[in-house]
Amino acid sequence: MTSSNSKHYGRVADLGCILCLYLQYGPTPCEIHHIRRYGGKRDAAPVIGLCPEHHRGNTGVHGLGAKGFEKRYGIDQEFLLALTTELLQNEGHQ
Ligand SMILES: [Zn+2]
Ligand SMILES: [Zn+2]
Repeated sequence: MTSSNSKHYGRVADLGCILCLYLQYGPTPCEIHHIRRYGGKRDAAPVIGLCPEHHRGNTGVHGLGAKGFEKRYGIDQEFLLALTTELLQNEGHQ
């Protein structure tokens, strides 16, 4: 992990769980989730913040699997990534 990566991870983590934000549950402490793209390396994988439940729990991305997650919430991980990027950009312009 490079230092610019860990700085980015910190900013993503500061947003809290992106799914909780989207569902308007308010900011919740989160873990870093790597979005694995086909053939991509883990270090190069984009990251989003997910709370323990939405990350590893029964209603989370690992618990449901990517397909189940999309079905349940009507959005996919790429959407959450775009939302994360947007929020971080807005933050930078304040
Ligand atoms: Zn959450
Ligand atoms: Zn994960």
